[in-house]
Amino acid sequence: MRRKNFCHYCGKQLSEKFLDGCVRLYCEFCRQPLYENPIPATCLVVADEKDRILLVKRSVEPQKGLWCLPGGFMELGETPEQAALRELKEETGLCGQVEQLLGVTANPSPDYHTVILIGFLVKRYSGRTRPGDDASEAACFQAHVLPDIAFDSHLHFIRTFYTKHAKTGEAVKYSLKSNC
Ligand SMILES: [Zn+2]
Repeated sequence: MRRKNFCHYCGKQLSEKFLDGCVRLYCEFCRQPLYENPIPATCLVVADEKDRILLVKRSVEPQKGLWCLPGGFMELGETPEQAALRELKEETGLCGQVEQLLGVTANPSPDYHTVILIGFLVKRYSGRTRPGDDASEAACFQAHVLPDIAFDSHLHFIRTFYTKHAKTGEAVKYSLKSNC
C-alpha cells in the first residue's frame, strides 16, 4: 500500500507514533493519529435458472482482460446491497434483486492493504446485458467452462455458490482455477 505522507485535515507532514499497540501515522499539528481501516467492496454471483453465472471482462487494471464477478467499492451513504446492485447496473446493464448474503471475507490488496468483500447472490434480474464502466464484456458461463477468474476472493464466492446454493452442484467436480 502506498504510504500517506500528509494529514488529510491540515495538510502538514505526518509522523509515526506507537499508539494502541502498533505504529500509526500521526499528525503533530492536529494531535491525532490517522486511523487506517479496511475498504468495503461488494461482488455478486448472478445465477440463472440453469446455474450459469454472469461474469464481466475487466477493462481496467488490476487484472485487465481477465473475467471476474460484477461488483466494486461501496460509496458513502450506500448500504452493501445498494452498492452491489448499483455496480451490477453499471457493469452489466441489469437490474437485480439480492436473494441472500453469500458471505464476507477480508482480502489483502496491493492498493488498499485490506479489502472487506461482501458477496451476494442474485437470482432475479431484468434488462438486457450491456457491458459498461470497468467491464468490456459481460457473459454467462456454465460451471465447467468458466474462464480463469481474476481474483481469488471472487473465486471463493463462486465456489460457495456451486457448493451450497446451485441446484446441480456441478462445479464441485471441477477444479476452479484463479489467475493470481
Ligand atoms: Zn493534521
